[in-house]
Amino acid sequence: FLSRLHGTEASAQKEDSRFKGHDMLAPFTAGWQTTDVSPLIIERSEGSYVYDINGRKYLDSLAGLWCTSLGITICTNTNSCSAYIEKFSFSKLVKARLEFVGGNEPRLVEAATKQLNVLPFYHSFWNRTTRPSLELAKELLEMFTARKMGKVFFTNSGSEANDTQVKLVWYYNNALGRPDKKKFIARSKAYHGSTLISASLTGLPAMHQKFDIPAPFVLHTDCPHYWRYHLPGETEEEFSTRLAKNLEDLILKEGPETIAAFIAEPVMGAGGVIPPPATYFEKIQPVLKKYDILFIADEVICAFGRLGTMFGCDKYNIKPDLVSLAKALSSGYMAIGAVLVSPEISDVIHSQSNKLGSFAHGFTYSGHPVSCAVAIETLKIYKERNIVEQVNSISSRFQDGLKAYSDSPIVGEIRGTGLILSTEFADNKSPNDPFPPEWGVGAYFGAECQENGMLVRVAGDTIMMSPPFIISPREVDELISIYGEALKATEERVNELKAQ
Ligand code: PMP
Repeated sequence: FLSRLHGTEASAQKEDSRFKGHDMLAPFTAGWQTTDVSPLIIERSEGSYVYDINGRKYLDSLAGLWCTSLGITICTNTNSCSAYIEKFSFSKLVKARLEFVGGNEPRLVEAATKQLNVLPFYHSFWNRTTRPSLELAKELLEMFTARKMGKVFFTNSGSEANDTQVKLVWYYNNALGRPDKKKFIARSKAYHGSTLISASLTGLPAMHQKFDIPAPFVLHTDCPHYWRYHLPGETEEEFSTRLAKNLEDLILKEGPETIAAFIAEPVMGAGGVIPPPATYFEKIQPVLKKYDILFIADEVICAFGRLGTMFGCDKYNIKPDLVSLAKALSSGYMAIGAVLVSPEISDVIHSQSNKLGSFAHGFTYSGHPVSCAVAIETLKIYKERNIVEQVNSISSRFQDGLKAYSDSPIVGEIRGTGLILSTEFADNKSPNDPFPPEWGVGAYFGAECQENGMLVRVAGDTIMMSPPFIISPREVDELISIYGEALKATEERVNELKAQ
């Protein structure tokens, strides 16, 4: 059962003891897992699928870590791949690579290779920069239309983007002569990253314990999860009204002159895929405006089509002051993140530069030319293939197909929108009746999926999925079918455990 819980399943895969107790301090992995169980080693990819070192194929229902939006290929067989190569007349080098790996999204491979051949690195410090970073900044400002944005700052990740947000906000308030306006309000169950500040903004206790965080300038307000937290008889709208009131009470208690910004994911991701209740952002935003508090939209998961709109802000009519991007910005092919900064904030930073000197913040790889070149090509593909329409054309098959399992006696709630969804297991359909953690219900379900050729994300008794945007109807059907089989097996397991 141990091996079923975490990592590989000995009966389904050849156990490869060479990798037990390997040399990596592995992220979000318990030490005992790597010593007791061989890791699942992914070796290659093809579209919505990945393959492990033993050649086993898995439907990757989380698109890597919510990021490989274009899948890892568009070619499903060598013939179509060759046709694609001919059509776009790729270089010999790329052709060789495509033939070798079976076809990663060729245009992204080509974009990276071209850039590596011309200029593999140059930085963006001291008013020196590269063409791809300039071009990508321009493109992002054009694409983001929920409100006009002024400037773009590049990072390597979502965490760095959110850390940058905090420094930008502090810099801005210092420039405006408001040195006390420094606190941040985030939400319980939010996920904003793993660096010290972004993990402080994160609202997951497991990421705070033992690390001496959250930092004292971070406050957490309610998680907007209607199913779990609504009062008896309370409608979604009333729930949102109550949360907006709680937010205002917190601001007043702390002193509005001390609160700098509020940060939120349009749909909460790693905290359990929690779409906002009706009218939530409609009610939150006026409270923030009233007290001159900036809104930071963490679009690291939601941006570029995941919710069926180009940005999460479009879906929920959010008018942010700052936006964090990463993941699907390069379809996960290269490490890149970005911060979009409102003209009001960037104007202040610019106008203060005589007084405050340079904006002394940046990473060696801010605007890395290869990452930017891949991101530019990714955005081109989104436009050309009308990725938002593509997501909308497949999302109801995905959502309806999975939500049809809501009646299962072990399912508390299935929730989601666009191509993001989670299942929360609970007894009696009630958030107040969780299964005993030692039953490992979520882990059992995850292991069943893995054994049957699908990777899902398991967090306690919550299962999360966010397949690539290019997932085909046949693949969605396969995903639903593996899910259904795993659910049946998990129901049986729960019955056995109940009978014991
Ligand atoms: N914000 C959100 C909403 C995320 O989901 C994540 C990563 N899952 C991050 C920030 C952090 O991004 P990264 O892992 O690239 O640092």
